[in-house]
Amino acid sequence: MTLIEALVADEKESEMTRAYNFCAGPAALPQAVLSEAQKDLLNYKGKGMSVMEMSHRSADYIAIAEEAEQDLRDLLKIPANYKVLFLQGGASLQFAQIPMNLLRGHSTADYVNTGMWSGKAIAEARKYCDVNVVASDEHNKFRGVPALDTWNLNSKAAYLHYTPNETIHGVQYNYIPDADVPLVADFSSSILSEPLDVSKFGLIYAGAQKNIGPAGIVVVIVREDLIGEVLPGTPTMLDYKVAAENGSMYNTPPTFSWYLAGLVFKWLKHIGGLEKMAEINHRKATKLYAAIDESNGFYHNPVMLPYRSIMNVPFTLIDPALEKTFLRDAEARGLLNLAGHRSVGGMRASLYNAVPEEGVDALIDFMKDFAKKMG
Ligand SMILES: *Cc1c(COP(=O)(O)O)cnc(C)c1O
Repeated sequence: MTLIEALVADEKESEMTRAYNFCAGPAALPQAVLSEAQKDLLNYKGKGMSVMEMSHRSADYIAIAEEAEQDLRDLLKIPANYKVLFLQGGASLQFAQIPMNLLRGHSTADYVNTGMWSGKAIAEARKYCDVNVVASDEHNKFRGVPALDTWNLNSKAAYLHYTPNETIHGVQYNYIPDADVPLVADFSSSILSEPLDVSKFGLIYAGAQKNIGPAGIVVVIVREDLIGEVLPGTPTMLDYKVAAENGSMYNTPPTFSWYLAGLVFKWLKHIGGLEKMAEINHRKATKLYAAIDESNGFYHNPVMLPYRSIMNVPFTLIDPALEKTFLRDAEARGLLNLAGHRSVGGMRASLYNAVPEEGVDALIDFMKDFAKKMG
């Protein structure tokens, strides 16, 4: 039994002392991962020091970093012609770094607008190129994805950018769009939630703090033929090619976040990989949506059925005046961070990989009790 297997077993046996955390990000981490990090915190595998205190150039740390990359490659079956980069600045810096690296002499790029995060990506890209918004769901209050046959694609675009899962609106694509130009996707809130055909993409990026690990790192998976031609004036630190050639260690990387992400990848492999994770995630989301839909209007999710996110479930209560009591009572039952994003209000339950199915069951029980008490 490996250490992580032992810890998963311990976790099942030990009394649940931690709350269920539905935070949208930074989000819940698997308890087994935190326990393993805790065991190794003062003295990593007999090396006499913490991972946080190691040189990123040491053989021990290089082994940690390389193993994390290999485990991620295994989980997502990443083809050999893709580079995997562990960078900083979060997904938000990628909104600029992507055009800096991928315009490659083009003057325009295509973007789909399905909500807050795609909107931010569009606004940032406008600093570097002409952005062609191929389709927008704004008129529909971001409750779905505009039909693919209405997209105004431009064959001269450097790439097509979209947001597979809109974390705030709870809108998720149920397909990968076909494009003649490289496809670029912000997978911050849905990476590793189910299997993914990486070969369909030019570039995938994801901030770590939802489904990968702690904040401080962003993973970029990029087809190698697309890198190496940056806009003039691009900082060295923002050149994907430089990062790739230096194993994401052109300067000191966020070593502890990278290490912890590696433990999460090991945990995912132990669970049974992304097929198994997808099965669990779909079950979690399906039962929560059912509870909302069967509440006789006490709870409501506004998203069009085919585009409901399996990761982020926003919902409103029949009377917004009940929200404060709902949050307070939920917290008393150990159900944390259910408030919606400040921009849209209401409630939101984020059901990332590390949120156990028992947590969703506990949430549903609470919601039913609350509706009965107040309805
Ligand atoms: C959280 C999130 C971001 C922002 O991530 P940062 O790492 O905070 O910059 C961007 N896009 C999506 C889809 C997100 O969920």
